[in-house]
Amino acid sequence: MRGKTDKGRRWVQDTDLETAVNLVREHAAVVVNRHTIRRLYTNKSFRQYVLTRDNYTCYFCGEYGDTIDHLVPRAKGGHTTPMNCVCACHLCNQSKADKNLEDFVTDEEEA
Ligand SMILES: [Zn+2]
Repeated sequence: MRGKTDKGRRWVQDTDLETAVNLVREHAAVVVNRHTIRRLYTNKSFRQYVLTRDNYTCYFCGEYGDTIDHLVPRAKGGHTTPMNCVCACHLCNQSKADKNLEDFVTDEEEA
């Protein structure tokens, strides 16, 4: 898996086929060619995309939210894709945190 960061820096990472297929199927990436997929979102734009899509409304309680939560935790095979991520308020995000702590900000650049 390879691509370019916001700043135009190239990055390459091996991604197993299953993950690649999932990313594409869940609309987080597009197929460039047989060996390459390209992620559609950077961390920042992805976050913005999900928050805007959900109107900054917490998926769990309906209050204002500005954080992202995974429906299927990454630890259980969930991916950071539009289909698997919802807007959540701090409270709901925190109440789930001990079960599936996601460091969304730090780990997704390489995922
Ligand atoms: Zn909430």
